[in-house]
Amino acid sequence: MINLLLVVAAYFFMEFIAWSNHKYIMHGFLWRWHKDHHVNDNQKYLPGILEKSVWEKNDLFFLIYAIPAIALMIIGFYTNLLSLVYIAIGITLYGFTYFIIHEIIIHKRLPINYLHKNHNTYIKAIIKAHTAHHRPKNKDDFNNYGLLIFPLRYLKN
Ligand SMILES: [Zn+2]
Ligand SMILES: [Zn+2]
Repeated sequence: MINLLLVVAAYFFMEFIAWSNHKYIMHGFLWRWHKDHHVNDNQKYLPGILEKSVWEKNDLFFLIYAIPAIALMIIGFYTNLLSLVYIAIGITLYGFTYFIIHEIIIHKRLPINYLHKNHNTYIKAIIKAHTAHHRPKNKDDFNNYGLLIFPLRYLKN
């Protein structure tokens, strides 16, 4: 039971980490890695613009986020501190969710059609909130740095 709580806590803590890294690091001193994610996104909406590369520099962040999870897993198994392993599982599940929602559902980087339709209200609101970060109509829109947690106004139509 405690273990399940650790997985859930690590998962939601990662939403906070993702939000703060996006806000202070990716739009801060590592903007040069995140920039092409915003540029590539804009290109999709300009007809006739050359094809974009499959990879974005932004993808490097996935590798970096994987390191603490892998390290925790190795240390956890090695020292028999299984709590660390459960925290690592929470981090990994969050990374997996982020990949599915951000890369496939929102930015459609993989043609998995059933993930591109029949979205429920919550997923629709996530898409709206993240799209607002990419194509802001005002400063509040742009400030949408989180993924799973967003201002409630996006739940309304
Ligand atoms: Zn951004
Ligand atoms: Zn995005």
